[in-house]
Amino acid sequence: MALQNFQYDIIMREYSRRQSQVQHVLEEHRREAFAKVPRLLEIDQTVAGLSAEKIRSMLSGKPGSVDELKEEVAALAAERTALLLENGFPADYLEPHYFCPSCQDTGYIDGHKCACFKKAEIELLYTQSNLAEILQKENFDHFSFEWYSDTMKNEATGLTARDTAKRAYDMARNFVRDFDSRFQNLFLYGSTGVGKTFLSHCIAHDLLESSHCVLYFSAFDLFDRLAQTAFSRKSETDPGEEFILDCDLLIIDDLGTELTNSFVSSQLFLCINERIARRKSTIISTNLKLEDFSSTYSERTFSRIASNYQMIKLIGNDIRIQKVFSR
Ligand SMILES: [Zn+2]
Repeated sequence: MALQNFQYDIIMREYSRRQSQVQHVLEEHRREAFAKVPRLLEIDQTVAGLSAEKIRSMLSGKPGSVDELKEEVAALAAERTALLLENGFPADYLEPHYFCPSCQDTGYIDGHKCACFKKAEIELLYTQSNLAEILQKENFDHFSFEWYSDTMKNEATGLTARDTAKRAYDMARNFVRDFDSRFQNLFLYGSTGVGKTFLSHCIAHDLLESSHCVLYFSAFDLFDRLAQTAFSRKSETDPGEEFILDCDLLIIDDLGTELTNSFVSSQLFLCINERIARRKSTIISTNLKLEDFSSTYSERTFSRIASNYQMIKLIGNDIRIQKVFSR
């Protein structure tokens, strides 16, 4: 969705860098070509003079003289091309060579974002999500129900592991489909290796592809990061805590594996609470049993989650171990 200001600034800085690089190359070309063929400099100066004259004629409403000037400029342009080719230069040697000819490296066409801007946006979001590489392998296209037993059952629901996975998969798909129209959060739980992280990666992948700002953290890294920003000044490119509270989707993976203490517990509550207040979606995955959650963190945290998150339980055998044995 909307980029954060600091992200917009990073992209616009890259556009100005490109513009000055294009100008720099063009200056080099002009210097070289004018030194070798002085007539090219004369042509350049004449064309500049004619262009100014053309504007004056247009303003004074003399269309006939405008056409004449156009012809003159066209003749000079033809002479310039011929001279360049004769002297071993490419025909477009004195033209700017934009990275993106469509928007001439401004990022915008008629006030709308150019395709190159959208591409830059997605690339930046991927880089900042902490997920850039893993999502090539872990996305909905690579989700397989084969890893889930069709005999093992969830006592409470009576569903097999595979059917449970199918339900979770559908909920994840719906989460992505309704992301812009409905505020929702997911709480994925179940034992190690049942595909909770994989499922959150599938969601992250699709939301990044549609230019949403997604931020992924293992619980350990998240609290480590929050502890750092609590005690240090943030830099220009690292917006720190604000970004964590304000990104479109925050994924907190493996909650319960960090060293839980009162700092962690209070930060988790603040983070969950603030994101609910801002109506920003969060996905939490954990190996903890629901009954252990309150005692590990706090009753108030669990109560916020229970009333604002969809609970998805996955069951099955450890997929990572199955993969090792199936090689
Ligand atoms: Zn462009």
